[in-house]
Amino acid sequence: MNIRDSEFVMGLLIDNGFTRAESAEKADIILFNSCSVREHAEDRLISNIADLKLEKKKRPRLVIGLIGCTAQNHKSKMLERLPVLDIVCGPGNESDLPRMIKDVLKDRCSMVAVDKVDDKRPELFPSYRENKFKAFVSIGEGCDNYCSYCIVPYVRGRERSRDIEDIVREVNDLAGRGYKEVTLLGQNVNSYKGSRVQGPGSRKNIKTGFAELLQKINGIKGIERIRFMTSHPKDAHVELFKAMRDLDKICEHLHLPIQSGSDRILKLMNRNYARAKYLKLVEEYKKFVPGGSITTDIIAGFPSESDRDFNDTVDLMKEVGFDGAFTFKYSSRPPARSAELIDDVSEALKQERLEMLMVLQREISRKRNEETCGKIVQVLVDGPSERQPSLLSGRTRTNKNTIFQGPKKLTGKLVEVKIESVKPHTLIGRMT
Ligand code: SAH
Ligand code: SF4
Repeated sequence: MNIRDSEFVMGLLIDNGFTRAESAEKADIILFNSCSVREHAEDRLISNIADLKLEKKKRPRLVIGLIGCTAQNHKSKMLERLPVLDIVCGPGNESDLPRMIKDVLKDRCSMVAVDKVDDKRPELFPSYRENKFKAFVSIGEGCDNYCSYCIVPYVRGRERSRDIEDIVREVNDLAGRGYKEVTLLGQNVNSYKGSRVQGPGSRKNIKTGFAELLQKINGIKGIERIRFMTSHPKDAHVELFKAMRDLDKICEHLHLPIQSGSDRILKLMNRNYARAKYLKLVEEYKKFVPGGSITTDIIAGFPSESDRDFNDTVDLMKEVGFDGAFTFKYSSRPPARSAELIDDVSEALKQERLEMLMVLQREISRKRNEETCGKIVQVLVDGPSERQPSLLSGRTRTNKNTIFQGPKKLTGKLVEVKIESVKPHTLIGRMT
């Protein structure tokens, strides 16, 4: 989501006559797009911005801005904490950035804009995209779920769905420009409301709103692959899995964050589902989408998490057999509600649990990957592999990173690869 937001802002600035600098040293304007989901990222961001103090002394006309969730979270306090900043702009106000930058350049005063946290982003559509064949498409903003640990509802505002017509128009435009893959983005894509009906009473659309959107996008000529994230287990339904089965362009990958395998912790997290419901969903997914992959997010060390709670998570991981998992150490994020609970799992124990989860997941991922050995998979080629530039890399429909030999000119093309060996995070094969 942050990648898409940065791209949106870059496009907006380019459309307003700015050009992209080759490096921060050569730039007249430096914007930091921030994430505040975890404390560690915020701490690093603050020290990175503070590091620009000397540069700003040397070049007083340099404009430095903070955008994204940390801007929304701390508002004008960021200006006091980081005097090098000229601009603090929340996600809802980012459409105003070209004007704000021009004002700062003219008057040399600092500016804070954080009042549009609940606004719908205008349909501005800067055409700029970082990638030439894969695109992120936002289908909505904000979140109403208030998971107790999560800051997103406070910094991204109330959930609002983009109109279906606008999304379809954007994807049509991308298809016309040669894009092959779209990833639909929302904090909770399953609660996408569709059409222009929104607000209370529109819940009846929940089961079908997202499936309807998928159906429309599936009909767009030129688009070959559709991905989406993130799905919330409380709103995920068999309808979605049926759509994945029936619509040929939807990739067989589901990202379904579980967060914890303990019902007691899930309750404290305000996730609104129990372990049994999650396992039932997984069973249905596997039934409707055989061969599909499933990935998840897990938080280790939520307040009061006991060995028993943690073991419930470990058992669930083994039972589901995730293809991949993003694992995080819990961090307290006021004003998120869990900040009122005592953060009583020690840092050392959080670290230990995190490492146990990572080791276990590596093993499970490798086993899951082994099931692809000898099979032929379709890969969309991203280009030369970052780690081994003599090889090409790309993603399978199940979102597995795959490396193989081939010419660079295949970048952006769909190819077939026979898998010969695997690692926990990579498939290795040969083009057929
Ligand atoms: N809307 C998505 C993504 C939310 S943020 C969803 O519901 O899944 C991405 C992940 O960050 C979450 O799934 C969660 O695992 C993690 N996360 C969020 N808040 C956190 C916190 N306070 N401490 C640690 N991890 C957190
Ligand atoms: Fe945060 Fe929960 Fe919303 Fe995801 S669903 S953004 S974890 S509040």
